[in-house]
Amino acid sequence: ADLALYRAKAEGKDRVAFFEAHLQKALEEELALLEGLQEALEKGEGLWLAYQPIVDLRTGKTVALEALLRSPLGPPHRLVRLAEHHRLVLALGRWVLRRALEEKPKGLPVSVNVSPVELLDPIYPARVAEALEEAEVLPHELILEVTEGSLIPDERGRDASWALEALKKLGVRIFLDDFGSGHSSLERLAHLPVDGLKLGQAFAQDLKTPQSPAARVVAGVAALARALGLTAVAEGIEDEATLERLKGFGFDWGQGFLFGRPGPLKEG
Ligand code: C2E
Ligand code: MG
Ligand code: MG
Ligand code: MG
Repeated sequence: ADLALYRAKAEGKDRVAFFEAHLQKALEEELALLEGLQEALEKGEGLWLAYQPIVDLRTGKTVALEALLRSPLGPPHRLVRLAEHHRLVLALGRWVLRRALEEKPKGLPVSVNVSPVELLDPIYPARVAEALEEAEVLPHELILEVTEGSLIPDERGRDASWALEALKKLGVRIFLDDFGSGHSSLERLAHLPVDGLKLGQAFAQDLKTPQSPAARVVAGVAALARALGLTAVAEGIEDEATLERLKGFGFDWGQGFLFGRPGPLKEG
């Protein structure tokens, strides 16, 4: 019995050691990535923006470009999440905004993703005003994509509604990104200074299955947007059939591989 107990303990220790080695490795990888990102931001190298067209579904015309972060360091959501945990996202977001405004073709609005961490920074709206001025871009030519996560109060009870009001006053447009995949309260939505809803990508993917119950939700989101006077945008449109259904539901704008993948700006 003693021997069995001894063995079990030894095995347990092995497992702990095994687990710790994995944890250690994951931490080291994260640190290296963080350092890489910091260095990329300092040098202005190894980071760029890809642009994806956002199309008016009635006219087929491009009405805006969404700027999406690209880096050999890793996929954007991973870099952004990591940066958020270390507040590096403030510098990253600043870089993205400035670059997007700098590269923006004349007359075509640009849509920039904003992290909830940026919106909680009290100086953020002033920084946006400054960046617009520097790039000589009119406020209504900038769309900021905020996520539902920005609207949930943090552990100190703060949320981003103050920042949204300030940005609204500035004249920039605010769209709620990945709508339907978080926890927005419909009650709050009616009072928020937002201009549009971007339906989460997964919904468009679900429309590929005929009679999917998700279709009724998607139709409902378009109706909700209309009732609130908001622009309804659908993301992740990959085929004609999905496009036709979304048009039928009353979506105003759309985005997806069918219209164009994120890529470099075209000249002219
Ligand atoms: P998002 O803002 O919802 O961006 C849309 C994502 O869908 C992009 O992924 C885009 O490449 C992808 N996409 C576009 N059309 C299609 C389609 O037809 N089918 C499919 N399957 N996917 C499509 P990406 O570029 O990997 O970005 C992922 C997420 O990372 C973004 O989701 C956004 O939340 C975040 N992100 C990207 N760039 C930035 C940034 O500069 N700042 C912040 N805070 N977040 C960013
Ligand atoms: Mg990705
Ligand atoms: Mg977005
Ligand atoms: Mg989205």
